[in-house]
Amino acid sequence: MTHKNILPEVAYRVFVEYGQPVRSPSDYKNEKHKICISCGKGGTKSNPITNGHKTPYGKGIFEFSLSPEFLNSEQNVVRIHRRKGCDVALTTEQIVECLKKTDWYNPPPWVPKEIRDLFGSKYS
Ligand SMILES: [Zn+2]
Repeated sequence: MTHKNILPEVAYRVFVEYGQPVRSPSDYKNEKHKICISCGKGGTKSNPITNGHKTPYGKGIFEFSLSPEFLNSEQNVVRIHRRKGCDVALTTEQIVECLKKTDWYNPPPWVPKEIRDLFGSKYS
């Protein structure tokens, strides 16, 4: 049994075969904060505050087999300016470091070998 934040293999295979589903705005629940987490300023008309995924949605699914519920949760979605400069997306290496600190993530055997290798030889 995999942790609820990790997609089971069968669900992962469906995503790989059919692609990621389109997200609707209602998927986002973290609407309450009006301040950009990156620069600490509020939004403007030309650069509004929006939601940003720390672990990008598609990357989280296809490279790490993380569940959409986790990827769209407050653990992963933050308020951020829409325009570049306040980007919150983590690199693959940063995501690995964050997941290593959790007590629930071990890379499942169906994620790409290059990703498993980043977690150490016991997962390769
Ligand atoms: Zn900002």
